[in-house]
Amino acid sequence: MDDIVLLGSTGSIGTQTLDVCRAHNIRVKALSANSNVDLLERQAREFRPEYAAVADESCYADLKTRLADTDIKVISGINELAALKCGRVVNAVVGIAGLLPTLAAIEAGNDVALANKETLVAGGRLVTEAVKRRGVKLLPIDSEHSAIFQCLMGAGENRFTKIILTASGGPFYGKKREELENVAKDQALAHPNWNMGAKITIDSATLMNKGLELIEAVWLFGANPKQVEIVVQRQSIIHSAVEFEDGAVIAQLGSADMRLPIQLALTYPRRLPCPAKKLSLFDVGELTFGRADEETFVCLSAAKSAIAKGGNAPCIVNCANEAAVGLFLRDKIRFLDIGDAVCSALENVGFIAEPSLDDILETRIAAENYVLTKFG
Ligand code: NDP
Ligand code: MG
Repeated sequence: MDDIVLLGSTGSIGTQTLDVCRAHNIRVKALSANSNVDLLERQAREFRPEYAAVADESCYADLKTRLADTDIKVISGINELAALKCGRVVNAVVGIAGLLPTLAAIEAGNDVALANKETLVAGGRLVTEAVKRRGVKLLPIDSEHSAIFQCLMGAGENRFTKIILTASGGPFYGKKREELENVAKDQALAHPNWNMGAKITIDSATLMNKGLELIEAVWLFGANPKQVEIVVQRQSIIHSAVEFEDGAVIAQLGSADMRLPIQLALTYPRRLPCPAKKLSLFDVGELTFGRADEETFVCLSAAKSAIAKGGNAPCIVNCANEAAVGLFLRDKIRFLDIGDAVCSALENVGFIAEPSLDDILETRIAAENYVLTKFG
């Protein structure tokens, strides 16, 4: 099996990717973290990659000292790793920090297994055009998009008429705005079905995650935003579905374990035994379906408006959200302020209809500054 470069190896997706690598003896050519040198050192000693890197340059000297007795090359910055010749680059970085590494990987001709949805939200057009131009594969890791991808395997020339994007609803499903005024950080961090990094867990509580995923689906599958229907599936068993012209709906089901979509993105087109627990429908018992409440969860409606508007609008909502979630996690703002910050940034940060990469990077700064100044 081909070797991988793993960006964001110390996170939730990163560590589960390494579980898959252990299960199938997949060679890891490079590992990276932002600043968690402790875990990165342990991973490097176990997997013996050729390279280990930190994005936060203040951690470089520490990592270099820790790995001095090995022949692992220690690097500051992660774009260089993404461009190393390898079977697949796994991008498990959180946030728009993943955009440049994704582009670097594609330009170098590498296939990319993508968990970093912010890449497609902020730079969807740039990324999909680069993928086409370089003739590489972009394989989704996000469970819903992996499900859609699997539902389309074997569809041949038949186009879908609708994508049914499922959502767990998060910890506050069914709650109204007034009930969310005083929610504490640990309530927002307690996801009912998935154990994930802090940022995506908050995004799941605000439903921003589903808004980002709608935009991700538009770019990955060439869908019109109106073709994407969000359905709350509380048990997180149906990971998403597609509908065809004749009304047939094909869904992918499985236990709520990211190792299945991660593994498929590494081994595609092959399916191999997976460390994830197998699904028993008898244990699940019942599957329920509901609608998302966009009046309460305004991040979702802001993301929909942003993709309808196009240009740099998705980048604005993404980066405003990253800044607002950061403030919430540092106890600087309240839960409902996240949605207000995202909506306000969408209205006030400068719109660009056909953004270049530089425009996207400037939009990032403008949206972050807007939120930090107005809400921080
Ligand atoms: P985590 O916060 O758990 O991990 C993030 C990883 O990225 C860590 O390795 C972290 O390093 C690294 N990192 C953080 N900031 C930077 C930076 N500025 N530059 C380079 N590396 C950085 O996140 P998750 O694993 O939960 O999520 C990763 C991505 O996958 C996100 O885009 C998320 O939306 C997506 N995703 C996650 C799912 C999940 O189940 N967790 C499910 C579906 C999608 P360090 O440890 O040093 O901070
Ligand atoms: Mg998802």
